[in-house]
Amino acid sequence: MDTPSDTHNLFFDSVSAYFDRAADLMSFPAGLLDQVKSCNSVYRMKFPVKDDDGNIVVIEAYRVQHSHHRLPCKGGIRFSPHVTQTETVALAALMTYKCALVGVPFGGAKGSVRFDPKTCSPEFRERVTRRYTAELIKKNFIGPQIDVPAPDYGTGEQEMSWIADTYRAMKFNEPDTYACVTGKPLALHGIPGRREATGLGVQLGIGECLAHEDDMTALGLTTGLPGKRVIVQGLGNVGSYSAHFLQKNGALIVGIAELGGGIYDPAGIDLRRAAHHFKENGSFAGCGIGAFFENPRDVLEQPCDILVPAALENQITAENASRIQAKIIAEAANGPVDHEAEEILRDRGILVIPDLYLNAGGVTVSYFEWLRNLSHVGFDRMSTRLSELTKTHLIEAVEHLTGRTLDPAERASVTAGPREVDFVHTALAETMAVAYHSIHDAWKTKDLPDLRTAAYYVAIDRVCRSYQAHGIFP
Ligand code: NAD
Repeated sequence: MDTPSDTHNLFFDSVSAYFDRAADLMSFPAGLLDQVKSCNSVYRMKFPVKDDDGNIVVIEAYRVQHSHHRLPCKGGIRFSPHVTQTETVALAALMTYKCALVGVPFGGAKGSVRFDPKTCSPEFRERVTRRYTAELIKKNFIGPQIDVPAPDYGTGEQEMSWIADTYRAMKFNEPDTYACVTGKPLALHGIPGRREATGLGVQLGIGECLAHEDDMTALGLTTGLPGKRVIVQGLGNVGSYSAHFLQKNGALIVGIAELGGGIYDPAGIDLRRAAHHFKENGSFAGCGIGAFFENPRDVLEQPCDILVPAALENQITAENASRIQAKIIAEAANGPVDHEAEEILRDRGILVIPDLYLNAGGVTVSYFEWLRNLSHVGFDRMSTRLSELTKTHLIEAVEHLTGRTLDPAERASVTAGPREVDFVHTALAETMAVAYHSIHDAWKTKDLPDLRTAAYYVAIDRVCRSYQAHGIFP
């Protein structure tokens, strides 16, 4: 059995190998490519926190800023007993390429804290989060223009609130304190649409991929989501929203893998019922939906069109890649397919939609939240009523010309102005479409081996050009 550090080295090696594969095809100076690949800063800390019995526990944590080519740095914070420095560096590097790919003007970063948030009390989790934030503040590793964390595996809105509150308490005179972290709840200057952003982006990204008839024909699939059979691994933030939006857009969820077991039903799973059972019982055991698999990894190998790993890295390796039956692997998690598995999948004609593109919805909407916090105004406030008035005048003119009038319900629906969440969702959809177009175009026109190489190629090109524009490498 692999230890966490083995699997994290494997993940780091994969990110490194993917970078090299794309960089080898580029003509930038070797030193510049070296700089783009290198991790700029690593802050490893140990700090004491009292447990619920008053005993002191020493916590190890990290904040990694992979690239300062744009500021602030941006990246989630992971809480897990298995985090390592190597894993955090690999995740931070991915953030640099991800931001470049979707046009988010940040450098990549990542944070991690080694403890189990699932088995401790909320009070302990709060003390750890606040102390971690204080450590970041002491070393200038957090701030609206420096480094802006967000949720990741094992963290969510609650932790982001504690971070914002701690930052605000210690930086009381700063004007934009809430922009120090994103993924906050709405009540604490969050943005509508952030909670579901990564999962919605996953669905939008899969939709972009499925729209290309030639690619789908090569896979033996039709275009479009309706009727596609999907297996999802992980029912946390990313997995549950991915499954929800995929199902809402016509896909059939046939399998779900979670810690403690998985379920598979080729006729389709009632997602709401399955999620409810999992939430109540912490497992799918006894839920009575489809076939139950004690080992959740077995679910990944069941027949489907699209496999969506949305849990952790290194889930598809050389060990199980030959048994995967999906035609598309949609990387909702970071690093779920390692570089050895990828060779096997490519030889078998399986298409991988890479993580740095597919799960970029989270950082994209985090960018909108950050902008909103800096401007201190919602995206709808200055335009929604104006839009309603303009549409009302237009409708009145059309009614006058045609002699036909809309009933009040019709009129209200036609003239309604956009809500803030509409701005967020449409801007996210545009981002996912434009980014897919750029990687698909690079894949085909530069004859690159696959979508991942194309995504790295586009991202590295942009970061290199940014460095060159700064005059660092004339
Ligand atoms: P989360 O903690 O909300 O959920 C993860 C889920 O995966 C949990 O329910 C956990 O029980 C489950 N899980 C863990 N190991 C598993 C296994 N071996 N088999 C099946 N299920 C397993 O985390 P999240 O925020 O949804 O993040 C998931 C992945 O997506 C991570 O790789 C993260 O880096 C990536 N990601 C998250 C975001 C975000 O906005 N939260 C953005 C981009 C990428």
